[in-house]
Amino acid sequence: MSTGEGKGMDRRGFLRLAGLGALSAAAVPAGWDLLKPGAALAAGAGAPVAGRRYAMVVDARTGCPDGCRDCIGACNTTHNIPTFADEPDPRRHELKWIWQTSFHSAFPGNEQEFAREDLESKQVTVLCNHCQNPPCVRVCPTKATYQRPDGIVMMDFHRCIGCRFCMAGCPYGSRSFNWRDPWPRNAATGEPAKLPNPEYPTRMRGVVEKCTFCSERLDRGLQPACVEACKEKLLVFGDLHDAGSGVRALLKEHYTIRRKANLGTQPQVYYVIGA
Ligand code: SF4
Ligand code: SF4
Repeated sequence: MSTGEGKGMDRRGFLRLAGLGALSAAAVPAGWDLLKPGAALAAGAGAPVAGRRYAMVVDARTGCPDGCRDCIGACNTTHNIPTFADEPDPRRHELKWIWQTSFHSAFPGNEQEFAREDLESKQVTVLCNHCQNPPCVRVCPTKATYQRPDGIVMMDFHRCIGCRFCMAGCPYGSRSFNWRDPWPRNAATGEPAKLPNPEYPTRMRGVVEKCTFCSERLDRGLQPACVEACKEKLLVFGDLHDAGSGVRALLKEHYTIRRKANLGTQPQVYYVIGA
């Protein structure tokens, strides 16, 4: 993965030359045209993928224990995601890779008046769905966001010009924009201050970021940090092409739903909601 440091390409210069206007309607299919019937097949989605196909299963039957944010904390530390505690309104700058939301926000349209009352107060863990048919990838003019053969939707900070088309294209709010440098920089060297995880690249103001299923950890044979951190074992990650994997077993044994699956994005995060 590239960092935002020492960039060979001047993103702002690129924007000046290209002009956001020229990049907009002409280059990018309009709105949900991206997801109209046939678009998925035309984009190659659903075609057999050689090798692995990664997915996550979230057990949403009980919801997260009150106040538990272990998965979020592990993700933030692993990926140098700041809290912006120095900002008057930290939420304005919030960078969300994995977060919690209400059941109804996670699954709009599933509301009904006779549903379990406790669902209203339960928190569900949500993250990038690593969609098999990802609109974010199709709208990115620089290929800064792209899909690996194993299905993971990646970000290359180095190539991102900050146009935010991907944020407009993602129907799940899974992408965040760096309105300021995530970490203060040393005035003399320009290098970021001490990072929680020096092994993970930091980025700069003006680029988009999101969950990468901890690709850097997978490449070292590790599980995603959130999966490892969840003491309740509510997050299970694995290869759907492996018939013996935990994710396959859960999908076979339980009823699962996906977020806004009707949009045709083919999310690869599944939620167990029934026996
Ligand atoms: S959830 Fe959003 S950011 Fe993630 S792959 Fe799907 S469209 Fe892209
Ligand atoms: S903001 Fe999103 S669409 Fe624009 S270049 Fe960066 S990743 Fe691509």
